[in-house]
Order: sequence, then structure tokens, then C-alpha cells
Amino acid sequence: MYNALMNIENMTLKTPYLSLDNEFYDLRNPEPLDEPYLISFNPEAAKLIDLDSESYNDPLLIALLNGAFSPKGSRFFAMCYAGHQFGNYNPWLGDGRAMNLGSTLGWNLQLKGSGETLYSRTADGRAAMRSSIREYLMSEAMHHLGIPTTRALGIIGSKTKIIRNQMENAAIVMRMSTSWIRFGSFEYFYYNREYAKLEALAEYVITESFPHLQKDEDRFYKMFCEVLERTASLIAKWQGIGFNHGVMNTDNMSIEGLTIDYGPYAMLDDFNYNYICNHTDKIGRYSYGEQPNISYWNLTKLSEALSPIVSKEKMQKKLDEYGAFIYPNAYIDVVRKKLGLSVKNTNDAQLVEELVVTLHEAYVDHTLFFRTLSRYDGDRAPLYDIAMEPVVVDNWLKLYDKRLLDETSTQAERQERMLQTNPKYILKNYMIQDAIEKAECDDYSMVETLLYIASHPYDELPEFENFAGDTPEEYKNIGLSCSS
Ligand code: AMP
Ligand code: MG
Repeated sequence: MYNALMNIENMTLKTPYLSLDNEFYDLRNPEPLDEPYLISFNPEAAKLIDLDSESYNDPLLIALLNGAFSPKGSRFFAMCYAGHQFGNYNPWLGDGRAMNLGSTLGWNLQLKGSGETLYSRTADGRAAMRSSIREYLMSEAMHHLGIPTTRALGIIGSKTKIIRNQMENAAIVMRMSTSWIRFGSFEYFYYNREYAKLEALAEYVITESFPHLQKDEDRFYKMFCEVLERTASLIAKWQGIGFNHGVMNTDNMSIEGLTIDYGPYAMLDDFNYNYICNHTDKIGRYSYGEQPNISYWNLTKLSEALSPIVSKEKMQKKLDEYGAFIYPNAYIDVVRKKLGLSVKNTNDAQLVEELVVTLHEAYVDHTLFFRTLSRYDGDRAPLYDIAMEPVVVDNWLKLYDKRLLDETSTQAERQERMLQTNPKYILKNYMIQDAIEKAECDDYSMVETLLYIASHPYDELPEFENFAGDTPEEYKNIGLSCSS
């Protein structure tokens, strides 16, 4: 059957967000970059909005990504929000460098780095090419790892200069999300005591993200519960894959439980529970191991923001459950799956706890450990080979061997499941850094290579075996700066 795909010229967007009061946004036109050129186009994201995957040939693509072409029905706007940054309330955040165009098929399109908005404060509204490449690649990688995330349609580079630690070239990524509402969007109206607008925002979120609650009398409370459960599931998945976000401020927490606003993130190299990817985070507030606690803290801030329209007691009870079992169970389920366990056993929590201690003490690459374990058949040598402290691994394997006796599926079935759960390929920062350094010399081939690897995390790709090993010692668990 002929399936009419859209091209950029006839793409039509809607802007339901603009039906909210004008305090919710800043209508503002982008400031296009100089001499823009395409760095990469992502046909998988194009498919989601029914856009022809051949659109990389479309002369309008660069104009679209540069904010120089406005699709039918679209209006450019930045969204308003506040948020707690490193524990302190900031009443004035918002899209300081992002502009929305509108939505189609449930995807809200947004340009990141397209110029100043009402919310730019003292900054320039731009995004450096290096951080744009990082966001572009990692959001795709996360999606293919089964982790809820925003997506990206494409990225352009330019000759526009911006000042960061040095002069750099600016870029724009077109991001797509099923929601751009953040915990901080609610905080803005709560702290301004604008409760009618707070309620209007809640209704908007229900329509956009939780339409099954629309007719429910208790819909605001149930919305809170959904956000909380999605957050539990998201953070459990981050912990399971070894993702450290780095800037878990409440303005970077998605109301749909998506990974948003990729900054100084990192995937763990050697497992280190206390790893801090963001090197401006001196005390490790947003370290890998703290992420579950911080998610709870952020949810308490959301509950405060919702308190004018939802019972505080009911939300507190749900928060208590989050700490007591909703998050812990979500995490144990994730790890159980990574261990190939198909039946639930009451002692699994302990097995998982011991595993975390083991990984921390064994000095072993997180990804390599689980991938190697996915082929475990009783022979421990392959696991000893990858750990600096094999004795620690040995102790835990004794527990695992015992636990496997409770399983009903065969070893081959378990291995098959694990190979589809524990990736062979993840994007480590040193790989992305290599792609960035090449891009800075006008060679974008590595961006394409990493995009390909990112979309095949569980496959055996013999030509890319060099991306599946241990991280070179000099690049292990380095920190990144927030400046982007
Ligand atoms: P982040 O934590 O990186 O997601 O950003 C925190 C806040 O700073 C958000 O309100 C951003 O829009 C804003 N911001 C970050 N970089 C810039 C920039 N170069 N220009 C304007 N606003 C920015
Ligand atoms: Mg942000």
C-alpha cells in the first residue's frame, strides 16, 4: 500500500501549548547560524514523524534545523520553567537556548542552540558543537537500550563562533520529545502562587501525556503517581545500564519520566558506585550512586509544587512507598533481568546488593561484566580475566550459581535473554570525544559510525569490535564540565 510520507515543505505542526496563558512561553524567532551545514540526519527519528527518510537530500532540511524555515502551522516559542539547581531554588530558568516549533504525531519538535529567548539570562542562547554531538548521539543510544528518552532528528554545524572555555563553533540539534514539561514547570507557578495556572498546566500534562486520566476525578493525584512510577522505572534503568546524568536538577526532570537535557553525562567505565561525571559537582550530589536518592528528593519538590491541587498526605504516602518498595523493586527487576533470572525469589534483593558491592570492589568494566556474564556456563575464567580483583567476583558467583538452581529455563535460554538485555556496545565518553575531535577537523564520519553502533547495542558487529572492549586506562571515568 502506498504510504504518503511527509516532506519538509508540507509538514504541518500544531501548537496546543500556546493555548495556555502567555506567561507559559516566550514567542520568539530563532537567530539562524552562519553558513550552516548538515552534520548528521537520523532517519529513524524521521520515521516517527512520518517524514521521508530521504529528507537529508531535501534543501529545506538545513533551513528547518537552522530555524530559517517555519513549517505550516508552526510558531516558535520558548517554554517557561523554574527549578532547584543543586538544591537551591532558581525562580527563573526556562528554555534559554531552545525553541519549540510545535508538534506532529505526538512529537514536539525543538531546536536547541537557536538563539536568545526571554529565559537566556546572561547566556548566549547557543550550543557548542561538541555538546550538541553528545546529545544527538546519546539520546539515540539510550532509546536503543530501551531507556525512555527524547530523540533527535538531526544536527547542523556552522561558522558562528561562541565563547566557552575557548572560541568554538555553534551547532543546533533538532530534538523531539513526547513532552517537554519538567518538574520545574510546576515549581514556577507554585512559587509564584499562581494556582489557577498550576492547575491549567496539570490539565495540559494530562491531555498530552496521561490522556487515560482525563475523566478521572482524582486525576491530579493519579498524575503524580504516574510521574513517580515512571521516574522509578527510569532511574532503575539508568542504574542498570550504568548511566550517570550529572545534572539532576528539577528542571531537568521530565514529567513523562524521560531522559532529558544531556549535559556532562557518562556511562560507567569500571563500575564505581561513587562516580561523579560532572566535575563541577564537587560533593557528588549527582553521583551515579546518589541518583535514586536524588530522584526521591526531586519528587518531593514536585509534590510540594502540586500541593495546592493535590492532597499532601496522599502524595507523602506515595513518596514513602517510593523509598520503601516502588524504586527498590523497579531496580531489582532491572538487575534480575540483567542476570537472566526469570523467576522471582525473595532473596533476590540480597543477591543484587551483594552484586553492587562486588562490582564496586572488583574494578571491572560495568558493560563488559554483564556481557561476559551473559555467556556464563559455569566457567569463571572469562570473568576473572576482566576483573582486577577476581576473588571478589568469585565470591559473588558462588551466590549466583546457587541462585541459578531455582531457575526453570535452560542455560541456553538464559544466555539468549541476557544477550538481548546486556549490551555489547554502549557509547563511552572517550568514543564520543574521538568523534568530536574528528568533527572539529571537519570529519563527521565517526558521528555516523557511533550513530550506527548506538542503534545496534546487542548485535555482534565484527567490524566494530574495537568499540566493545575495556576503556583505555587514561580515559577511564573522567569528569566533564557543565559548560556547553
Ligand atoms: P541545563 O541544566 O544545562 O539543562 O540548563 C540550565 C538552564 O540554563 C536552562 O534554563 C537552560 O536553558 C539555560 N542555559 C544553558 N546554557 C545556555 C546558553 N548557552 N544560553 C542560554 N541559556 C542557557
Ligand atoms: Mg535543562
